[in-house]
Formats: sequence, structure tokens, C-alpha cells
Amino acid sequence: MKNIVENDRKLVEAAIEVIQNNYDSEHLRHTVGAAIRTANGHVYTGINIYSIHGACAELIAIGKAMTDGHRKFDTIVSVHFWEGKWQVVAPCGNCRQLFADYFPKGFVLLQGEEGLEKVPVLDLIPKAYCNRNSKNKKDLAREKTKRSQLKY
Ligand SMILES: [Zn+2]
Repeated sequence: MKNIVENDRKLVEAAIEVIQNNYDSEHLRHTVGAAIRTANGHVYTGINIYSIHGACAELIAIGKAMTDGHRKFDTIVSVHFWEGKWQVVAPCGNCRQLFADYFPKGFVLLQGEEGLEKVPVLDLIPKAYCNRNSKNKKDLAREKTKRSQLKY
């Protein structure tokens, strides 16, 4: 876990703002907002696109950043409206794999018992699938070795 900084709180605010501006109360097609901060400090936001094979808000935010040429990411967060307030929500399994593929050294903001937490991506998906051709393969292998102390 890493310390929360002001930019992390701003990231949560950006995720809330994007879904507040796009919330679909009629069809509930857009109910989650996400914000990602690139390694050089740019912030991109996204909303979920509901369908049988829809896209999570995190995917949209990452796609927007990548479309603008960014490839290095620092931190991501997602929010939804629950029990009368906007709350940070944990990413789904598919998004966790996506984070491991694209920024295994990055962080995810989560709501812990004592407030906002900044958790390493690979802590959210132990033993993540690793594409043989992935440039991140060495990063994943190094992290796995560091955590488990296993030789393979
Ligand atoms: Zn997801």
C-alpha cells in the first residue's frame, strides 16, 4: 500500500465528475466513472458503456489516454453511486488483468476500512495471466518472484 497524495484525491474527484455529468438514470447504461493518471501527470476519464459485451469505465479511460499516445500509467480509480453517495468501487477481474497487462507497476485506488487506499496493481491479480509476447512479462515475472520467493 502506498500513501494517498492530493493528486489521488483529485483523481477520485475527476472520476465522480465524469459520471455525474453522464449518469444515465433512465436506462442505467452509464453508472460508473473512472479516471486514470498517466506517468507524466495527465488525467483521462471514462464512463462505462453498458451492453451484453459492454466496456467498463476503466477501459474507456485507458483507451482515451492511449489514443492520445500515452503508454505509461500511474494510478486509476473507479466510482459509482451506492447507498446515497459516490463511492470508490473495486475493478472487475477483466480490468485487473488489463491493468496487469498495461501497467503492472501502477496502482489502483480502493476504499479500505479506514479510507482511501493505494494498492499495487499486481496485488489485485496474483498469478495473473501473462501473454508470452507481452513486453510486461519480465515485470510480471519479477513481481511474482519478489512476492513468492519461488524459483521458476
Ligand atoms: Zn471492469
